[in-house]
Amino acid sequence: MTLTKEEVEQLAQLGTPAYYYDLPLLEQTLDAAKTAAEKRNFHVHYALKANFNERLLSLIQSKGFGADCVSGNEVQKSIDLGFAPDKITFAGVGKADKEILTALRHDIFAFNVESIEELEVINSLAGEVGVKANVSLRINPNVDAHTHHYITTGLDENKFGVPNSELEIAASILRKCENLTLVGLHFHIGSQIVDLNVFKSLCVKVNEWKNWFEERGTTIKVLNVGGGLGIDYHNPDTNAIPDFEAYFEIFDKFLERTPKQEVHFELGRALVAQCGTLLSRVLFTKSGIKKNFLILDAGMTELMRPALYQAFHKIERVGDVEGAESLNYDVVGPICESSDCFGKEVLLPKSKRGDLIAIRSAGAYGEVMASKYNLREEIRYLYK
Ligand SMILES: *Cc1c(COP(=O)(O)O)cnc(C)c1O
Repeated sequence: MTLTKEEVEQLAQLGTPAYYYDLPLLEQTLDAAKTAAEKRNFHVHYALKANFNERLLSLIQSKGFGADCVSGNEVQKSIDLGFAPDKITFAGVGKADKEILTALRHDIFAFNVESIEELEVINSLAGEVGVKANVSLRINPNVDAHTHHYITTGLDENKFGVPNSELEIAASILRKCENLTLVGLHFHIGSQIVDLNVFKSLCVKVNEWKNWFEERGTTIKVLNVGGGLGIDYHNPDTNAIPDFEAYFEIFDKFLERTPKQEVHFELGRALVAQCGTLLSRVLFTKSGIKKNFLILDAGMTELMRPALYQAFHKIERVGDVEGAESLNYDVVGPICESSDCFGKEVLLPKSKRGDLIAIRSAGAYGEVMASKYNLREEIRYLYK
C-alpha cells in the first residue's frame, strides 16, 4: 500500500482511524464486472449491505448497476441516490411491515420472499396500498459454499429461504394471492466463495428447481443466483480485481435458460472489498511475556470482521521501511475485548509509536459494521 506525500499530509490533518477508498480502483472493478456481465446479458444488482458509503454508491449507481437491499432504509437510500426503482430488489429473512410498505410505495422490481407467512403479509399490504407486488421465492438449495460457517446461508440448517418441504404450498398460495406476481426464483448460498465449483453445483440446483416450477405450469422470468463471489484477501495488490469473466462464464455455461429468461446477480464484496483500506496509527508497542503487541488506534469498532468471524486481512506498515528489522506482532485494537485483534503473529518491520498501519481489503463489511462501543469517535474518510 503506497500513499502519496499529499495523502499522508491530508491524513495527518484528518487523524486516524480512517477509511481510505481508492475510487479509481473501484471504477476499474465495476467496469470489469459490467463488461463480463453485459457480454452475457446478465444483470447485476449491487448488495448495499457490503458498503453503503455514498461516494461509493454514487459511482456504482452511475455505472448502471441495480441495488440489492436488505432493509427499508437501504431501499430508501438507493432511491435517494438515483437507483431506478425497477432495478431494486428487497431481500431479507425478516422484513417489518413499515419496510415492506416503503418498498411497495416505491414500486421496486421485486421482493425476495423467504417464508409463506411473508408472502401472505406482502399480499395483504399490497392490497392496502392498492398495488401489485413482484416477488421471487428464495429457495434454499442445500449447497455447501465451503466458506466460514457464519457466512454460509444455503444449507438446510440455515434460517434463509423457503424450506423445500414448503415450496408446494408456497406455489399454491401464490396462485391465490391476487396482489402478487411471481417473477422469479432467488438463491444465495453464502459469501467469500472462492471455489468456483460451488457455483457450478448451484447452477445444477437452480436448473432443477426451475424445472420443478415449470412442470407445475409456473413461468419463471428471472433466475436470481445471488452473490457471494470471494476476493483475494492475501494479495490485494497483485489480485485486486476478481475474475468476473470466469465467474460469469460458469453460469453462462451451466445455467439452463431460454433467451427470454433473465439472470440476475447480487454482488457485494467482490465489487467493493479491495478498494477500501483501514488506516491506523500505532498508539503503543508492548513486549509481553510471549508476544510483541502493536496497539492500534483502530479496533473492532471500525472493522469487526476479524473479531466476528476470524477473518483474515493483510496488515502492512505504510511508508519507507527498507532494510528494517522485522518482528512478529499481534496487532490489536484499543477495545476492551480480547477478540479485538486484527492479526496474530504478523511479520512486520519493527514499528514504533506513531507509525502508520494499513489493514487491507476492508471495503466490504467494514465501515457498515462499525459500532459506537466504548463510545468511540466518528470514523474519518480519505478518498483517492
Ligand atoms: C449479503 C448478500 C449478498 C451479497 O453477498 P456478497 O458475498 O457480498 O457478494 C447478496 N444477496 C443476498 C441475499 C445477501 O444477503
